[in-house]
Amino acid sequence: MALLEVEHLTVTYGNVHAVRDVSLKLEPGEILGVVGESGSGKSTLGYAVTKLLRSPGQISAGRVLFEGQDLVPMAERELRKKRWKDIAVVMQSGMNALNPVATIRRQFEDAIMAHSPMSQTKMRERVAEMLQLVNIDARYADNYPHELSGGMKQRVAIALALVLDPKLIIFDEPTTALDVVVQRYIVQNLKMLRKRYNFSALFISHDLGTVLEIADRVAVMYGGKMVEVQAAGELLKNPRHPYTEALLKCFPDPRSEQIEVLGIPGTPPDLADLSPGCPFHPRCAMAMDRCRVETPEYISMGEAGVACHLAAREVEVGQNG
Ligand code: SF4
Repeated sequence: MALLEVEHLTVTYGNVHAVRDVSLKLEPGEILGVVGESGSGKSTLGYAVTKLLRSPGQISAGRVLFEGQDLVPMAERELRKKRWKDIAVVMQSGMNALNPVATIRRQFEDAIMAHSPMSQTKMRERVAEMLQLVNIDARYADNYPHELSGGMKQRVAIALALVLDPKLIIFDEPTTALDVVVQRYIVQNLKMLRKRYNFSALFISHDLGTVLEIADRVAVMYGGKMVEVQAAGELLKNPRHPYTEALLKCFPDPRSEQIEVLGIPGTPPDLADLSPGCPFHPRCAMAMDRCRVETPEYISMGEAGVACHLAAREVEVGQNG
């Protein structure tokens, strides 16, 4: 059984359709990267999975099955028991989410005592162990967040997410606010932690390079829709959707002598005023007449899938020999 199964999820903020009919599956121990430009719906998807949407955001259709149990109709009291213990979250502002008036130790202890109480001695050991895992000396446990650098605070946020050994972690742009060197350090640290703890994760980021480095599979979102899913290596070699191809061109090859960073011409669609057809058609160099009027269906091919008329035709030709 998949650990997480999102089925036909739609999230609205008033008349804004932020996530539209999105389905995905996450297996135990798998990291699924979710990538897209700002406003693509990727962060809303993360908030919806944990049911932490801010008002007036609401799930207007679909299911979120965690170990087979639908979280959508679940009461807040039940959900609170699952958050942190089963499903943890590290947000972009995770480092700013630390309580400024409590020591690091106190924040670990509060989480432990709320979900899995243990003796003071065991708790001290656990806090030291968790900090060491993210390469922070245990003596920092008695410091306040403002006494730590941005990178250290984000590593504390990651250690806090891991302290109860959750099955699923949602990372929402966990490295975005940090400089490149610290970003790389955190990604390497996360790769080590994943090997050790074997957690599953949704790793949400606008940075395709980081996502390709850490994820097993990558889901590409555009205009609130899932437009392509592929294994990370395959996506890099053989993107099927023109938007994925355009995103890859924005991601410079560091081995190239001349590094040129390109943007995608045009702007993302207005999710409050969606025109018919493929959401990418105004920016797509491959657009056909059909693309302007007919929204492409997401064609699932096992672990992968694509929503594009052109790619669908190629898949069909490939299947027929
Ligand atoms: Fe481009 Fe048409 Fe495919 Fe949309 S459906 S990505 S417009 S080719």
